This record gives sequence, structure tokens and C-alpha cells, in this order.
Amino acid sequence: MLNVNGIDVFYGNIHALKGVSLEVNKGEIVTLIGANGAGKTTLLKTISGLLKPKNGDIVYEGASIAGKAAQTIVKQGISHVPEGRRVFANMTVEENLELGAFLRKDKVGIQQDFANVFQLFPRLEERRKQLAGTLSGGEQQMLAIGRALMARPKLLLLDEPSMGLAPLLVKTIFRIIQEINASGTTILLVEQNAHMALSIADRAYVLESGRVVLSGTAAELQASEQVKQAYLGGH
Ligand code: ATP
Repeated sequence: MLNVNGIDVFYGNIHALKGVSLEVNKGEIVTLIGANGAGKTTLLKTISGLLKPKNGDIVYEGASIAGKAAQTIVKQGISHVPEGRRVFANMTVEENLELGAFLRKDKVGIQQDFANVFQLFPRLEERRKQLAGTLSGGEQQMLAIGRALMARPKLLLLDEPSMGLAPLLVKTIFRIIQEINASGTTILLVEQNAHMALSIADRAYVLESGRVVLSGTAAELQASEQVKQAYLGGH
């Protein structure tokens, strides 16, 4: 479904991604783990068109999307939930969700997706008229995911959905990610919580200083001494 082939991405002189390649197959949950500053966010931003690779290519459903406008990429079925749950604080829950569907014209489909999002996140339905800025951190994360789903993505890019959430909420969010995947959406998940991410992923890549240093099935990475030492607290 998605093939990232040897991309280099720079911020000025900073070489943030160095020949990164990875693939995501339809139906999978693939996770990208790595320390702060490894380049995980940069990779998601490059896939979703917010950054352009200097070299290499990104092929989605058989065609290159590298360097295309973010809007075009959303239309083709890739939605990005950014780090830090950037919801529109002064808009209601409902208005935030409507914005997620702004490129669509199929009113019936949009209504169905409202219902789907509210089924996944009953809290959002209870709070649909509330300003997003007054929601708790966990609810804002749910809204950010819900908003991305309103574009009806085939591939969902999730950047650190567990960040700053209490352990119980982290479990809820991960359960919901599995539900989203089970209903047919392919997922590329960036996480610092390697333990949780590997527990739901099919495959994983480890990024260090802008390079993929390890990849395999989630089970292989969970068993790897290198991963245990660096990312699973030695367990
Ligand atoms: P984090 O979990 O902290 O977001 P990350 O793995 O997502 O880490 P990136 O945010 O992709 O890492 O950063 C990769 C590298 O690029 C880091 O060295 C970072 O300092 C640098 N970088 C990120 N954003 C910018 C920017 N806007 N300008 C300059 N350098 C940047």
C-alpha cells in the first residue's frame, strides 16, 4: 500500500532522515519506535505532504506522492493525526469533526462517519456542543483521531497518541486503534511507548538518528535484546 524508498529529509542543514525505507501493507498496523529526535515525526510529516524529501520516493497505491500537496494526499486516503492533539480549541467538538470532512461532498457518507466516530468515542457524542479547548487531554486525543477518521482514510498516520495520557486512557486509546484497524483502516503508528505499540502491531521499524536500524515482526522486535535494552526498559 505504502512504500517509502530511501528518503532523505532536511531542515536547513539538519539531515533528519537518512535514506529511510519502509513499507506498510494493506490491513496492517505498523509501528515506528525510537527515541526523542530520531525522526519519527519527520517521517509522518513527509508521508502526509507537510515536508518534501530531497531524495528518494514515496509510493502510495502504485503512484508517487512524494512532494505532493497535503490536501491531495488527504484526498487520496491518507490522514495524519499530529503529535500533541492539535484540535481547534475555540470550536465545538462537532465543528472540529466537520472540518475533518471538509474535502468531502458525500453528505450521507459524512453522516455515517459521524455515527461511526460517536460509536468509537461515546464521550465525544456527549460533548458534541462543547468547545474542544475545554476537553481533557484524553478527550482531545480522541477528537484528533475522530477528526482524521472523518476524512475516511484508507491509511491513518498516528503520531504519539499515548503521549501524556494516564495508563488507563492509554489502554483505551490502543484498544480503539485496534478497532479502527479491524474495521479496515491500515495504520502507521509512531510511539515512544514501545511496549504498548509492539503489543498491537503486526510489524515494526526502529529509527535511530534518522536511520532505520532494525525491522521485523512485532514478535521479533519484542524478543530482540537490542529492543529490550533500549526501548522496553530491559524487560
Ligand atoms: P519526538 O518524539 O521528539 O517528536 P521524533 O523522533 O519525532 O522525536 P523529529 O521530531 O522527527 O523526531 O526530529 C528529528 C530531528 O529533526 C531532530 O534532530 C530534530 O531536532 C530535528 N527537527 C525537527 N523539527 C525541526 C525543525 N522544524 N527545524 C529544525 N530541526 C528540526
